[in-house]
Amino acid sequence: MADPISPTAPEKNAADMPHLWLPYSQMQTAPFPVEATRTQGSRITLADGRELTDGVAAWWTACHGYNHPHLQQALIHQAATMPHVMFGGMVHAPARTLAARLAALLPGDLERVFFTDSGSVAMEVALKMAVQFHINSGTHGRTRMLSFRGGYHGDTLGMMSICDPEEGMHSLFAGVFPEQILADLPLDEQSTADLDALLAERGSEIAAVITEPLVQGAGGMLFHAPEVLQTLRALCDRHGILLIVDEIFTGFGRTGTMFACEKAGIVPDIVALSKALTGGTMALAATVARRHVFEKFLSDDADRALMHGPTFMANPLACAVANASLDLFEQEPRLEQVAAIEDQLRRELAPCRAIPGVRDVRVMGAIGVVELDKIEDADALRRAFVDRGTWVRPFRRIVYLTPAFTITTEELSTLTGAIVDILKARA
Ligand SMILES: *Cc1c(COP(=O)(O)O)cnc(C)c1O
Repeated sequence: MADPISPTAPEKNAADMPHLWLPYSQMQTAPFPVEATRTQGSRITLADGRELTDGVAAWWTACHGYNHPHLQQALIHQAATMPHVMFGGMVHAPARTLAARLAALLPGDLERVFFTDSGSVAMEVALKMAVQFHINSGTHGRTRMLSFRGGYHGDTLGMMSICDPEEGMHSLFAGVFPEQILADLPLDEQSTADLDALLAERGSEIAAVITEPLVQGAGGMLFHAPEVLQTLRALCDRHGILLIVDEIFTGFGRTGTMFACEKAGIVPDIVALSKALTGGTMALAATVARRHVFEKFLSDDADRALMHGPTFMANPLACAVANASLDLFEQEPRLEQVAAIEDQLRRELAPCRAIPGVRDVRVMGAIGVVELDKIEDADALRRAFVDRGTWVRPFRRIVYLTPAFTITTEELSTLTGAIVDILKARA
């Protein structure tokens, strides 16, 4: 085991740490990272003994807080029984149970579950499904995707082709991957008419329309109304295009309902899930298809099968802990907790509106966002939050909170208080 890295020294930066390469970081200028040693609830203990109140919940995953005993017991039990087996021609109860429970929770006849191990790959599978759905239907030439400005669906090359090219951290790679179609979300009459016209013109090339429902997360926590999803559903139906909804961030209560598309009352053709699926403990993702999509893959022709199969597909540890996470949604009042967090975020972030340089304050479910005119030095701002005993990760133009649903009122006030004070001090 490596020695714990030394406490943060201001003159050191991330590149001074041996061996590790950090995500989304200019290693030469990024601050030397803090080192976590323990977690509990909404607290992270650092190697130097400091304790941070967590406002991010491990990149939006740890919805029950850290170290929930029910999740830990499920992991320990599964580790002792059967940590992993291959999924080719062999299944197991944790996966069968989880698939059935997801099908029961999701709206409509979203009922066929394909497991993978990350959100990006779940979306890759969704795209493959959509293209092959049309081929298997005897329709040729529907090979492109239409996605939206501000969207984010993962970092693999295929996903880069459908992320916002300007905002999606991927502009350097333009030309490397297939060209897809980028549009504005149909937020008003004009943009709806424009999208309808675009689909009328190019619909015969398009396999699927892809969107994040209600919130574009990594694009900057941009919100839109449920009606936008209803518009997309209607336009896809009119033009014979599949609708893929990326619920990787929004799924499992984050926006206030179990899934964001419930608020719109629509049933997408394919849904991708990951992030909070295992309550933030194990890497697992799922691509869930409606019955009519799955049926197009049934044939006596082997070439019509879906050719995909990750080595760690449906890992039993991950499936067991995902089942335990769903138990907690049944046994503990998670959606009520989200509603209470929403109220508290609205109240306690409201004072930010009066701070110079604040452009917008918005809250949906357990997502609280303060948008600034600009953030000059995100690293310095992140460090200020650590110095306040909080873990908050500003990016682009926003400072945001996506806490665990089990966070206490006091802990949430610690986070909102830090945001108000730190933004005031920099104004
Ligand atoms: C995080 C995220 C992804 C990518 O998931 P990974 O597990 O990081 O590959 C895709 N879509 C959305 C909406 C996300 O928030």
